Order: sequence, then structure tokens, then C-alpha cells
Amino acid sequence: MAVVWGPELDDDGLKWLDTAKDLAERYFAPLAEELDREQRYPVENVEHLVQSGLAGLFVPERFRGAGASFVTTCAVIEEVSRACASTGAILTAYALGGTPILLAGTEEQQARYLGGMARGEAVSFALTEVGAGSDANAIKATAERDGDGYRIRGEKIYIGNGGASQHYVVFARTDPAAGPRGISAFFVDRDAAGVEIDRYEDKMGIRGTKTSNLKLDTHVTDADMLGEPGRGLRLALNTLNAGRISVAAQSTGVGLAGYQVAAREAARRQTFGRPIIDNQGVSFPLADVATELSAARLLTYSAAETYDRSGDVSVIGAMAKLYASEAAHHAVDVAVQVYGGDGYCKPNVAERLYRDQRILQIYEGTSEIQRLVIGRALAKEALA
Ligand SMILES: Cc1cc2nc3c(=O)[nH]c(=O)nc-3n(C[C@H](O)[C@H](O)[C@H](O)COP(=O)(O)OP(=O)(O)OC[C@H]3O[C@@H](n4cnc5c(N)ncnc54)[C@H](O)[C@@H]3O)c2cc1C
Repeated sequence: MAVVWGPELDDDGLKWLDTAKDLAERYFAPLAEELDREQRYPVENVEHLVQSGLAGLFVPERFRGAGASFVTTCAVIEEVSRACASTGAILTAYALGGTPILLAGTEEQQARYLGGMARGEAVSFALTEVGAGSDANAIKATAERDGDGYRIRGEKIYIGNGGASQHYVVFARTDPAAGPRGISAFFVDRDAAGVEIDRYEDKMGIRGTKTSNLKLDTHVTDADMLGEPGRGLRLALNTLNAGRISVAAQSTGVGLAGYQVAAREAARRQTFGRPIIDNQGVSFPLADVATELSAARLLTYSAAETYDRSGDVSVIGAMAKLYASEAAHHAVDVAVQVYGGDGYCKPNVAERLYRDQRILQIYEGTSEIQRLVIGRALAKEALA
């Protein structure tokens, strides 16, 4: 039995996990170093995700997706991230783009966009702007009435899969006077007039992913609105509630990768005539990491199960993301230490994982924002 606790998946989950493991071993893991070095978006990996059905895992069967549970989706994200953090992040960005459509799309919108996602047409989630990341209510992009629809003006930044996605779910102000109730969500096509990308980020880690800005001065029709007018911020926050659980799964994947290479290296590397793992100075940090990753997985899969039961994941999802991303940070830090000087120099898997991991404590709500969510909930409970 493995030291790190793992979930018991149902037959469907095991089937999809096997598919993920097979692709991860054959294609994703062998390419991870090259993607990082060359900062290259892996079209071939994305094709494998699409052809195998993994890209459309969360898409309902009636739109030709797999209709898998969130627990299964998390197990697959974890496995892919363990092999290649960039490919795992691309898969997570698919899930993030699909979630607002699952939550608020009309049947027609779901058929078009979720059906498209199962065929590989990604949708990106475009909320963040300069000065409006943690504070999503500070967005300035506007959507003003214009003929049969709206004119969206503004600039989004840090869009995951930007430039690779066919569509964007863009959040903009339809009623600037209405504060948080004045934001709405829209589908924007990447080929529409007035949709432009002029910057791709040069990132510390997950360098195989594309992260871009999105400049908008474009027309959309009424039919392109996603959800109710003025309910966009609520939709964005509900999307992030689910998205955080996916990031927790990414985190357990990257953390497990760090733990596994560290344990293997600690058993292989000899100093003073014996494996370094024979020293408690090396085995104890690994024991802590194994314990933390077990706890991270328990939280993550429990949050995913709660989501599958339509339970409230706002707090447990925040806890899972906070804890799992920080456990992953500890895991990759210990991995670098176990490798010694090699862990600080390229090409070394621990060095790469150390950089890949860092974003997990930042996107879809920083660790501070997760604490803020948990802190607000506990204050409400204490004051009740
Ligand atoms: C690689 C990458 C991919 C991304 N993908 C997407 C995407 O697909 N779609 C999208 O919309 N966005 C995306 N983002 C944006 C990401 O979600 C934001 O960067 C993140 O939420 C933090 O926002 P910020 O960068 O504006 O930092 P800020 O909000 O400016 O925060 C700066 C610091 O202040 C802290 N802080 C802020 N407010 C508080 C507070 N009240 N209490 C305590 N501390 C606080 C933060 O925790 C942080 O440490 C991505 C970002 C990156 C780097």
C-alpha cells in the first residue's frame, strides 16, 4: 500500500485514471522538460487530451462529453499534473472555462460551447484586469448597450490558455452604478473584430502554457450573454469555488511528483557510505511531506465529493486549495534540498517542479484570499 493516502475511485473513475496514466507515461512526462526549456505550448499533448476524451471529461454526455464526476476530473487533473505541470494546467484551464457554462449556460449555449470543448475548442475564463485580481469587483471593462447587443471595451490580463482558446467568457460592467450587481458575463469569439492579444507572459513556471492579455473593443449580441444580467460577479465567484478544487488537485499532483522524485533520490544518493534516506534529517522532512500530501488529498477529494453532491464548497474548496498548494510548496522545496546542488541547477526535475509549483499559491485566489474566505466564514459562525 502506498504511503501517501489516495482516494478509492469508482469504476468510471478508475477507467479515466488509467487513460490519464497511460498518456502521462507515454507522452506527457517525457515532454515536460522540453516544454519548460523551450517555453512551448504542447499542441500534441492537447490533441491527446481531446482524442482520449480527457478534455471533455466534465462535459455532460448529451453534449458528447464523458459526463464524469468532479472526483474523477480531479483524479485525472492530479495524474496529468504529476507527469507534466504545464499539461495539467492546460487541462485545469479547460475545466475553469467550462464551469460558468455548466453553471449558467442555456441549453443552446451548453450544446455549442461545451460540445465544442469536448471536440477541443477551448473556452478561457477572462476575469482579471490590471488592479483587479483578488478584488474582482474592481474590474473596469464595460459592456454598453449597442444595437442588438453590447460593445465590450477593456483589457483583461493573465488569461490562461489565451491565444489557444476559441472563445472567452469575459466579465464586464453592464451597469457601472450597480457595483457588484452591475457585472455581466459574455461569450467572446477569438476571431471577432476588435479582439486582440498583444502579449504573452514569460513565466517562472508552467512554461508550456499560454498566458495572455486580451484587448477588447468588440460587439456581442444579446444571445452572447451568459447567465442573468448583473449576476456576472456571482457567476465568476461560483466558478472559482469549483475551480479552486481543481487547483487543489493540480497541487497534489505537482506535490506528489516532488515527493516521489525526492524519495527515490534519497534512497539512491549515498554519502558517508549509506543512502541519505537513512538519516532522519532526510527521512523526517519526507515523512512530513507524505503526511501533508495525504491530508491535502483528503481535503481535495472530500471537497470534490461535496461538489458532486451539490453541497456548498465555498469553505472546504478554499481549505483544499490553500492546504494542497502549500503542501505542494513544501514537497518541492524538500525535493530541491534532497537533490542538493543538482536541485538548484537545470536540467533537474526538482528545480523545474519548484518553479511550476509556485503559481498554485497564486491563481484562482491567492493563499491570503483563501484565508480571507475561511476567516469570514468562521467570523460569521462565531458571531451568529
Ligand atoms: C499564470 C497565471 C494564470 C492565470 N490565469 C487566469 C485566468 O485564466 N483567468 C483569470 O481571470 N485570471 C487568471 N490569472 C490571474 C490570477 O487569478 C490573479 O493573478 C490572482 O488572483 C491574484 O491577483 P493579482 O495578481 O491582481 O494580485 P493582487 O490582488 O494585486 O494581490 C497582490 C498580493 O496582495 C495580497 N492581497 C490582496 N488583497 C488582500 C487582502 N484583502 N488581504 C490579504 N492579502 C491580500 C494577495 O494575496 C497577493 O499576495 C492568472 C494569473 C497567472 C499568473
